[in-house]
Amino acid sequence: MTIQSATHEPLQIIADQCDCMVCHDCGALQTLVPVAAGQELLCSRCGNLLKRPASDWLDKATALALAAAILFVSANIYTFMTLKLAGIQQGITILSGVVALAANDRWFLSALVLITIFILPAFEAFALLYLLIPHRLRRRLPGQITIFRWLVQLQPWIMLDVFLLGVLVTTVKLGDNATVDVGPGMLLFFALVLVLQLAYRIMSKDSLWTWLAPNNRYLGNAGETLYDCHACKAMVGLSIVEARGHCPRCNAEIHTRTPHSLQRTAALTAAAAILYIPANLLVIMKYDELGVNYDSTIFAGVIDLAHHGLWILALIVFVASVVVPVAKLLMLSFLVWSVHTRMNRGPRQRIKLYRLTELVGRWSMVDVYVVTLLTAAVQFGIIGAVAPGPALLPFAAVVVLTMLAAETFDPRLIWDPVDAAASAGVQALHSAPDDSESKPHSPLGATPIERT
Ligand SMILES: [Zn+2]
Ligand SMILES: [Zn+2]
Repeated sequence: MTIQSATHEPLQIIADQCDCMVCHDCGALQTLVPVAAGQELLCSRCGNLLKRPASDWLDKATALALAAAILFVSANIYTFMTLKLAGIQQGITILSGVVALAANDRWFLSALVLITIFILPAFEAFALLYLLIPHRLRRRLPGQITIFRWLVQLQPWIMLDVFLLGVLVTTVKLGDNATVDVGPGMLLFFALVLVLQLAYRIMSKDSLWTWLAPNNRYLGNAGETLYDCHACKAMVGLSIVEARGHCPRCNAEIHTRTPHSLQRTAALTAAAAILYIPANLLVIMKYDELGVNYDSTIFAGVIDLAHHGLWILALIVFVASVVVPVAKLLMLSFLVWSVHTRMNRGPRQRIKLYRLTELVGRWSMVDVYVVTLLTAAVQFGIIGAVAPGPALLPFAAVVVLTMLAAETFDPRLIWDPVDAAASAGVQALHSAPDDSESKPHSPLGATPIERT
């Protein structure tokens, strides 16, 4: 099936002659207009952010990346927090949670926490240095394109910000029963989260890609339909997409539409929905105090925070752990259903819904981190000890599966019925034979807006 991305009235502008870009979210070809600093360029069809011009970014981003690498090492060396209870002291570092889960035979969870709060953030900090310092010195190093592609693609799985919220909840929960001393590791960690996010945000990905591989347009035949590479934003002609299946610039997978997108999203969403039941009914955390067992479910944990008057924190955990997973399951089901039934109403609203599912999903990991930290911090033998409960694994699986479901969903599918209807309307108007497959893209003008 050949799918045109923009099937509006042809403007006779050949794609390889214009300054343009293919929108990732709707597949439309957009003519780029000049944007000033402080402005953002949005897709005129779906409102997706296309460009955010950056100036003097290289020095700032390099300095931040250097700071992030130093902070990463030092935050992991120093004590994160020390817990004191009945004369016993327990100090933990960032990685204590990973060790505590492994000691409880929770290997999958231990690996998940290790990857999301240690391995991937370490990769990000050092990948930034590997890209930015040579760029600053105008020297190319081997493997930079592959490393940059991974950095872009792995971004949703780097969860230091979510872990930070987990740290906050844990500290408040512990403060109720024991004395918590904040160690230098935690302050360094706060700085790390801020600096690392800022470095990635102010870095001009477009400039960096242009430096690594200046050509961003690959056409097999003049005027053929262009598709965007999700990782490097290169525009690749239909004939090359079909022949290679990979971006000629960065080697990321590229398809006219993600293969089996609907089936995969539907299957992952269904699996997550099933696991959501044990995740909420079973015990997520076991707490022994002087031989007495206190078992807690996710919801009981929220109630517990509210009972202690910590309403804001209770609300945050309730939204992240209960509301977000349900909302995400509903939104993904609706998106799959709307594409399956070829709905052509409200594509802009549905694309916003899709972006929301991508944005909020990872925050549900907060409960996994809280249990991890509590397991590491509360190991006082006879006085009290926290252990992860059977709900933790299905709960983490719900978060991971819904994130994968959102990743496999191809947002361009939302626009296909809309394009088909518009194309049918144009053809009826002109009573012309169906030649839409051989027509070049008709670029639409992107819209610059003031950054808020
Ligand atoms: Zn768009
Ligand atoms: Zn690419």
